Amino acid sequence: PTPTDYIRRHIRTVPDWPSPGVQFRDITPLLSNPRVFRVLIDQFVHRYFDAHPTAIAGLDARGFIIGSVLAYELGVGFIPIRKKGKLPFTTVEESYELEYGSATVEMHTDAVKPGDRVVLIDDLIATGGTLMAGAKLLERLGAEVIEGAVIVDLPELGGSAKVRASGLPLFTLVEFD
Ligand code: IMP
Repeated sequence: PTPTDYIRRHIRTVPDWPSPGVQFRDITPLLSNPRVFRVLIDQFVHRYFDAHPTAIAGLDARGFIIGSVLAYELGVGFIPIRKKGKLPFTTVEESYELEYGSATVEMHTDAVKPGDRVVLIDDLIATGGTLMAGAKLLERLGAEVIEGAVIVDLPELGGSAKVRASGLPLFTLVEFD
C-alpha cells in the first residue's frame, strides 16, 4: 500500500463517541504500531525537512505526540499550545466558537519571536477553529506559520477549506467523510 493508505488503515472509527451521532476518528492504533508510527512521522519529516522551520508547535493534546517527535527529528524545538489554564508562565490566549459555547487556547509569551518560522500540527481538523486559533497566537507574537499540518481532514465540516481561504497553507494526509 501507499504510505497514506497504510496510515488510513490504522485509524479507528468509534461510532457515537463522545456523543450520539459522532464518528470519532481515533489515531491511537497509529501510535501503538511502531512501523506505521514511523511511516506517519516520516511523511511530515520529508515534507518539512527542506523548509527549515525554526520550531514545531503542537495543539493540545494529540498534536503534542506527533509534533514533539517531528521536532526531535528535524532538530528544532517544540512549542505546546494548550487548553486554557495549563501553562504556568505568562500567556497569550485566543478563543473560538464551538457548536455549543467556546474554547480557549494559550501559549507562553516567550514561545516564539518575530522571524520564527513555525509548522503548526494537530491530529485532525474538523471545523478548523482549533488550528486557526493556534495560528493566530503564533502570528500575534510575530512568528510566520509556514503551514498547518494534520493527519486527518474531515472536509465535509468545512474547516480545511476555511483555513486555506484564510491564507494559511494546510497539509492533510488522509480524509474521512
Ligand atoms: P476543530 O477545532 O473543530 O477543527 O476540531 C479539531 C480538534 O478537535 C482537534 O484538536 C482534534 O484533536 C479534536 N477532534 C475533533 N474531532 C475529532 C475526532 O474525530 N478524532 C480526533 N480528534 C478530534
